[in-house]
Amino acid sequence: MQFIDLKAQQERIRPQIDAAIKRVLDHGQYIMGPEVFELERQLAEFVGVRHAIGCSSGTDALLLGLMAYEVGPGDAVFTTPFTFFATCEVIALLGATPVFVDIDPRTFNIDPIKLGQAIERVVEEGKLKVRGIIPVDLYGLPADYDAIMPLAEKHGLFVLEDAAQAFGATYKGRKAPGLGHVGTTSFFPAKPLGCYGDGGAVFTDDDDLAEKIRSLLVHGKGPDKYNNVRIGLNARLDTIQAAILIEKLKIYPEEIELRQVAAERYSKSLCEMAGVMTPHIPDGYASVWAQYTIQCQNRDDLQFRLSKAAIPTMVYYVKPVCLLDAMSYLNNQDGSFPVAEKMARQVLSLPIFPYLAKNQQFEILAKLAGKHICCS
Ligand SMILES: *Cc1c(COP(=O)(O)O)cnc(C)c1O
Repeated sequence: MQFIDLKAQQERIRPQIDAAIKRVLDHGQYIMGPEVFELERQLAEFVGVRHAIGCSSGTDALLLGLMAYEVGPGDAVFTTPFTFFATCEVIALLGATPVFVDIDPRTFNIDPIKLGQAIERVVEEGKLKVRGIIPVDLYGLPADYDAIMPLAEKHGLFVLEDAAQAFGATYKGRKAPGLGHVGTTSFFPAKPLGCYGDGGAVFTDDDDLAEKIRSLLVHGKGPDKYNNVRIGLNARLDTIQAAILIEKLKIYPEEIELRQVAAERYSKSLCEMAGVMTPHIPDGYASVWAQYTIQCQNRDDLQFRLSKAAIPTMVYYVKPVCLLDAMSYLNNQDGSFPVAEKMARQVLSLPIFPYLAKNQQFEILAKLAGKHICCS
């Protein structure tokens, strides 16, 4: 059994993928070919925003967003400690200061009440200029934007939605990554919508911001090809990856439903199990289930037993990012983010992907239950 089986999907659409790659080889426009613009049109329509801009990775998408807001030294950007390192890495890379805010224990996403308090605190201290918020839609579930956006408005902050794990998730009738002022996603192969290499995209309704990002994407290009107007990046999405994503996007709505079925099957069986807490999806939200993550007291023990039964599981994340060595210069102390630190000890992600077979899933559930019977 695999944690994420990418092969099953490839087998399903292999002829379409082969044909799409062949078309790119035939026309030869490897950089900014027609597929890139076609994909961008489809992505924007899917999410329901004015602009989707393809780029080289989910990390570069975040970086482009921050660069468009001209984030730099002396700026505070608020984010969650319970995420992949890239979320805070891009803030630090630009010389700004990541300010971490603990999470809601039921959704694993940034806690809006603590966010409000953290913003007030930084404003009061007066050392950093408060600039923006990067909420993460962890495991495929959107953060609480109806609580976050008013805080941003009150303090004049931008909201950059990190939906690397949540492309197409729903929040009160709207779709991720269209829930902040600007949103990003990743097409890393194992993400819900993945390509066959690195890729990402930035989303926004803001015309000026979109234009700036399109410039930053190509070395800060200006209207005159020979006169660069700002310091940028080389962060384009490859045409071949765009061609692959066009084929994958066609089956993506169905794949979200298949993930939903698998998640429901897990939750129905696991909700009765002692010592295990299943994911909480608030009313009006729909996850795209990048991960199906349970909470359990004897996590390491359970993971070890499952691995002995050849059931692969993962821990996202073993440590809150604020406590990783690269962030040590910020002097965040053990115990400062009690919820994130507790979750780092208790979360366990089970195999989930659209093609996870029912019998595989029952096998996983049987092994999980067996553990609890023999231990109780
Ligand atoms: C995967 C991920 C990223 C980075 O995406 P890449 O495409 O790998 O650069 C950023 N944020 C989160 C939350 C992620 O899960």
